[in-house]
Amino acid sequence: MKSLDKKYKEKLTPEEYRITREGGTEIPYTGKYCNFFNKGIYLCICCNTPLFSSEAKYNSGGGWPDFERAISEESIRYNKDYSSGTEQLEVKCNNCDAHLGHVFNDGPPPDYKRY
Ligand SMILES: [Zn+2]
Repeated sequence: MKSLDKKYKEKLTPEEYRITREGGTEIPYTGKYCNFFNKGIYLCICCNTPLFSSEAKYNSGGGWPDFERAISEESIRYNKDYSSGTEQLEVKCNNCDAHLGHVFNDGPPPDYKRY
């Protein structure tokens, strides 16, 4: 695990490391993909696993990139997170365990999910 940490420290910026490896939160409205709607696939910044597609991207106005669903349920996993004081569902990369954010139940129909 130590050598993996070192590998990520070399590959990622300090901000990217803090968010993905230590479960940090990006400052709202600062992310480069917040208002980015070109077609494409969003890869895990740590391990390049395909995670989200532009087809499922929308803008909730909350300051972070929003997706209706992941590209595949196999590419992500969920982890109960109580760090905010209430139960939230943390979304992680299923391959490398990178923190991707949380999933909420206030997204658009038909699934009403917001990743
Ligand atoms: Zn990953």
